[in-house]
Amino acid sequence: MSHYAKPLARLVEELVKLPGIGPKTAQRLAFHIVGSSQESARSLAAAIVDVKEKIGYCSQCFNLTDVDPCWVCGDDSRDKTIICVVEEPTDIIALERTKEFKGHYHVLHGAISPLEGVGPGDLRIKELLLRLNEDIQEIIVATDPDVEGEATAMYLARLIKPLGYKVTRMAHGMPVGGDLEYVDEVTLSKALEWRREL
Ligand SMILES: [Zn+2]
Repeated sequence: MSHYAKPLARLVEELVKLPGIGPKTAQRLAFHIVGSSQESARSLAAAIVDVKEKIGYCSQCFNLTDVDPCWVCGDDSRDKTIICVVEEPTDIIALERTKEFKGHYHVLHGAISPLEGVGPGDLRIKELLLRLNEDIQEIIVATDPDVEGEATAMYLARLIKPLGYKVTRMAHGMPVGGDLEYVDEVTLSKALEWRREL
């Protein structure tokens, strides 16, 4: 980085820390910022500071929010009898895009991963248990369909089912528009296992 002017080197160093940004992209972004107007550079810097100052966790569902409760928890028209459990706030954005789900969410902020030293105590599971009451009819476990997500789903089912709640898991299936012969065997066997009557 020594062939950059110092302030430019600093910006490249900061940008390269971001996920998905390699040295070349960082350089391109830094030069773009140098070439942009004073106003747009200030606006970018202000947006970064603003997001750190104003965004926090919803005290109920642990979604990212600038108001507490968040826009989901604060919406009285949503179905309070269903809680959909997800790993990350970005999962809520994906599910909301479907416009199919009108219940509430709970963000765990991760998944159980013994290899990475993440246990149930590191996730917002205690907080989920505190939300359970007689109004709740179903807990949908929408953790990722990978090893960690499955382990988390099993753990939650073992914990919550004995308390008398219906615990469901999102279906694993065939990709829409996909071709059966190209689907991997794990997805295919899960799709068979979770088949439904027509
Ligand atoms: Zn919330």
